[in-house]
Amino acid sequence: AEDPRHVPNRAVIDPSAITQNTRALGTLLEEQTALMAVVKADGYGHGMLTAARAAIEGGATWLGVAHPASALALARADLDAQILTWLYEPHTAQIVLPEVLRSGVDVAVGSPEMLQLVAAAAREADRRARVHLKIDTGMGRNGVLPWQVREMGAAIRDDDFLQLTAAWTHLTSAEDPEGPATDQQAELFDSACEALEDEVGPIPLQHIANSAATLTRPDLHRDIVRPGIALYGYPPVPADVPLRPAMTLSSRLALVKEVPEGHSVGYGRIHRTSRATTLGLVPIGYADGLHRTASDSIDVLVRTQSGDRRVPQVGRISMDQIVVDLGPETAARAGDEVVLFGDAGGEPDAPSAPTADHWARAAETIPYEVLTSVSGRVTREVR
Ligand code: PLP
Repeated sequence: AEDPRHVPNRAVIDPSAITQNTRALGTLLEEQTALMAVVKADGYGHGMLTAARAAIEGGATWLGVAHPASALALARADLDAQILTWLYEPHTAQIVLPEVLRSGVDVAVGSPEMLQLVAAAAREADRRARVHLKIDTGMGRNGVLPWQVREMGAAIRDDDFLQLTAAWTHLTSAEDPEGPATDQQAELFDSACEALEDEVGPIPLQHIANSAATLTRPDLHRDIVRPGIALYGYPPVPADVPLRPAMTLSSRLALVKEVPEGHSVGYGRIHRTSRATTLGLVPIGYADGLHRTASDSIDVLVRTQSGDRRVPQVGRISMDQIVVDLGPETAARAGDEVVLFGDAGGEPDAPSAPTADHWARAAETIPYEVLTSVSGRVTREVR
């Protein structure tokens, strides 16, 4: 890894925020409902192991990841949680699934072909695979269709190397967890589970709820909830429990300079100064994960010796750099810290930093993408 002192750009991760967010979600659950912390995509950009450990500290007893390779990395860390992996294709599955099963990781199965891959891997590993049967209730991605569940259930029942551990589905409409799409998915899921139970007897576990449903739909909590984004402090719907961002992205001013009125800034000259002012150059750009589509429509926080100031980012966001308008009178100096988003930890009455939500709105995307876009060239620092 690069020496962090050589790079001004850092994503500071506060694991206690993830722990407290996990605890806060836990207060919404019935005693018997478990929490699976979704730590895929390197813990939504926060560092998978950092996120996993922090969530376990907050009461998570399951960890969910997309890729088997991530599941293996979690298994090797010997954490006190059951792991589930749900996304693989035949070429890598043949190589990685036997080890995944030997490591005691649960696998999702979303098609007859995937069931064959898992059955073959279980024989190779000489381990009984714990299968979470995914039901496609409207997402159209992984998952068997409701009328396939009997056949799938029978195939699992009839194979000594397979064990039906759970039935699950994923919601399409996190932004509207109380809407008709969610209700329809829940109905499809319930009737598919009935058919499955009719075929093979009781299903040990059911899980449906993402962050949005964890926050708003106790009827969908079932045996395990699977929140991701809320653990990192960005509830997709208004939350009744306190949640705070776990990542703060910062850089430092590389240059401060005075320019006259009408001076153009950046590629395409989409911005011109409306008055004589001071521009600040910040050495962080879209190659670090900033969204170029947020250009000229977001503020950042500059921490000057005379206090914190919110200032507008101006002109197009470049690959490695952005420009901010510090205003005609500024105390800002090269070397001053710039907070792109997160928790600046300033005085209570000081201006706060923007959030990943602000960036998401400016870039017309979602905080998930803002957080997971922070690139490998940004130093992760755990505090
Ligand atoms: N479950 C699955 C299968 C997912 O893919 C995800 C993330 O997209 C989640 C749960 C968590 O969703 P959210 O981050 O909206 O809570």
